[in-house]
Amino acid sequence: MTEDRQPRLFVPESPPLPFELAAEREALYAEVVVNRPLEDRYDYIVPPPLAEWIAPGARVRVPFGRGNQLTTAYCVGLKTEPPSSRRLKTIAELLDREPLVTPELLELTRWISERYLVGWGQVLETVIPAGVKMQAGTRDILNFLPAEGLPSNLDELRLPRKQRDVLEVLVAAGRPLSGVELAHRAGCGTSPIQALRKRRLIRAERLRTPVDAAAEEPLEPLADLVLNADQQQALERILKVIRSGEHQTLLLHGVTGSGKTEVYIHAIREVVSYGRQAIVLVPEISLTPQTIRRFRQRFRSVAVLHSHLSDADRHRQWRRIASGAVEVVVGARSAVFAPTPHLGLIVIDEEHETTFKQQSTPRYHAREVARERTRRLGVPLLLGSATPTLESLQRARDKQDVYLHLPRRVEQRPLPAVSLIDMRYDPLASRGHSIGRALRGAIEAALREQGQVILFLNLRGYSPVLWCGSCRGGVRCPHCDVTLTWHRDRGRLLCHTCDFSCPLPELCPLCGRGGLKLLGTGTQRLEAEVRVKFPEARVLRMDSDSMRRPGSHDAALEAFRRGEVDILLGTQMIAKGLDFPRVTLVGVVDADTLLHQPDLRSAERTFQLLAQVAGRTGRGDVPGRVLIQTMNPDQPVIRYAAQHDYFGFAQGELKQRRELRQPPFAHLARLVVRGPKEEGVRSAIRALADVLRGPAAALTPPVKVLGPAPAPILKLRRMYRFHMLLSAEQEGQLGELWRSVRSAVALPEEVELVVDVDPLDMR
Ligand code: ADP
Ligand code: ZN
Repeated sequence: MTEDRQPRLFVPESPPLPFELAAEREALYAEVVVNRPLEDRYDYIVPPPLAEWIAPGARVRVPFGRGNQLTTAYCVGLKTEPPSSRRLKTIAELLDREPLVTPELLELTRWISERYLVGWGQVLETVIPAGVKMQAGTRDILNFLPAEGLPSNLDELRLPRKQRDVLEVLVAAGRPLSGVELAHRAGCGTSPIQALRKRRLIRAERLRTPVDAAAEEPLEPLADLVLNADQQQALERILKVIRSGEHQTLLLHGVTGSGKTEVYIHAIREVVSYGRQAIVLVPEISLTPQTIRRFRQRFRSVAVLHSHLSDADRHRQWRRIASGAVEVVVGARSAVFAPTPHLGLIVIDEEHETTFKQQSTPRYHAREVARERTRRLGVPLLLGSATPTLESLQRARDKQDVYLHLPRRVEQRPLPAVSLIDMRYDPLASRGHSIGRALRGAIEAALREQGQVILFLNLRGYSPVLWCGSCRGGVRCPHCDVTLTWHRDRGRLLCHTCDFSCPLPELCPLCGRGGLKLLGTGTQRLEAEVRVKFPEARVLRMDSDSMRRPGSHDAALEAFRRGEVDILLGTQMIAKGLDFPRVTLVGVVDADTLLHQPDLRSAERTFQLLAQVAGRTGRGDVPGRVLIQTMNPDQPVIRYAAQHDYFGFAQGELKQRRELRQPPFAHLARLVVRGPKEEGVRSAIRALADVLRGPAAALTPPVKVLGPAPAPILKLRRMYRFHMLLSAEQEGQLGELWRSVRSAVALPEEVELVVDVDPLDMR
């Protein structure tokens, strides 16, 4: 937390209690946690003036560590009996008038810290939005805007550099920014902002941002649909759980287009009728505009938590939700922490999506947090997917969770016919084309019949490898252990894991010889090929390069919906829940890119993605077709996907996972040590392995310790990485081992330890 985020010290204006009463009070002690890994709870004395105001969930400033440096901490508990430690220090300041989280959420964050082996303070720091922390001491957050009539060339203002940077950032943002955001983006403190305000070059206001305003415009309300028999049966079971007042997780397994969303809506209708709220988690807000529209058409008050909300708007939404005025909260992963006062149900749509796992500390999975939150509250958790994770399926098979099935699409629409195209013998493929003969013919036919086409390729950029024939290798990023991708639209080679970019070299940077060749196809190269092959067609590419501006997804999808685009091509961005009735052909350009990942879940991911993409067609009155191009037509995963055979796939995969003791039949934690020097990292992780295999560890139940070994991507963003894996039969055993050795873990300054429980990413 930077210093400028600190609100002022809150000093009570008058003593809240008569002086004598206050003096008679018992001594009070606070337990606090700080934002650090491997840290515990600490006891502090609460000084009398603060005793009436402090509460668990509020922040304090405490003298911390050997140097007694003032550090921000969270109060997590209060007690009157004196702690055993003799040399207690005293809290210096109280930062918040009111707790920032409810007792319910405070307890949940504690559970996260224990489940995911991270500091409680670290969890609190990320769970509470920056805007809420900022706001706590002050009255309103200001949004800043550039003043009117600024010259188009800012150099004319002759400003000091910092002020100029701030102004430039603000102009470029194109929307109001809060002080914290602005300072953060410009990489400065608050004084340049104040200076600009004094010069009247920027102005401040308390308005909402335009993005947010658009998201809240009322929509024409729609009546609920009458459910079909399968949907009704699933709903009855959900209602039974809702009315039981007990927690239960339900897995709604329904093929794409089977009407799962409609079932969610009816279930939410029930909890809302009791005056309770529901949270709906979706994989990514910007990719689910249609789902959000549907919720907003059916419920009176829906709060949508976008990732690009400004701090001020996020705080406003947080307060609205806490007041109980919102019926339904729709949001991505972090919406699982929405402060609903009477939560009645959590729904997780597309529960198999990996975006529900946070990829930075604390590395929680929203599904597991939701399970714990609903368990504590005695309310149901509803998971929906066409391709449930094997973890969720196995829980249902073990009868820990309830299994609900929607085996058919609504209105008897058939699932599309899927053909596997063997690219090994395709005459076009051997000449370097990405679209083979069969797919070309199918696209021509679809376009002739006025159908729309979706082409899926999970690789952005023009070409993923710049090949040097002399070195027999691709040109690599200087900071990462990966090849650079050529982006023709930007005219640069880019690293997809860090920000590095450079112009296309004529000579190999390693051996200095010429004759470099671009190998492989990304979406940009595919787009070029499509435009040549189908010059009449209107083509739109959708990937994270072409969709960088907020709102561009919506605009692109709207254009596709209106029929202004014939061929939509892109990365997995187009594979998600879109529902376009006129799509009659889906082409998977290269199914094999998904298979060859160093990951125990690569087969599962391939199956999920192919099933999702295939589900994009045949949603209207015209039946759809799917063509999957592959060099591995005999791969079981690809065959199962072509036959829409989820159970066939799951059965085989679960059998294999059971034999190999992999999830869901084992619980894993991945430990990554990273640092700037390879030797330092190697010796640090060896020391860590010794501790984990040493005498302290021997007391705890058997946890297998695998490794250490270099990570599959040894170097990432200038950091060398080594990893090891802990594997346990029972979930709790990982934590037991970790807590028993934690105090013995000492890492050198320059390396960092990352603990990832239930890792999804093994790179
Ligand atoms: P899923 O979430 O399983 O992909 P949706 O809920 O999006 O499925 O339903 C697919 C389509 O079928 C949507 O256009 C939806 O409006 C429609 N639909 C869903 N349930 C019904 C129903 N009971 N009667 C008529 N249409 C329905
Ligand atoms: Zn890089």
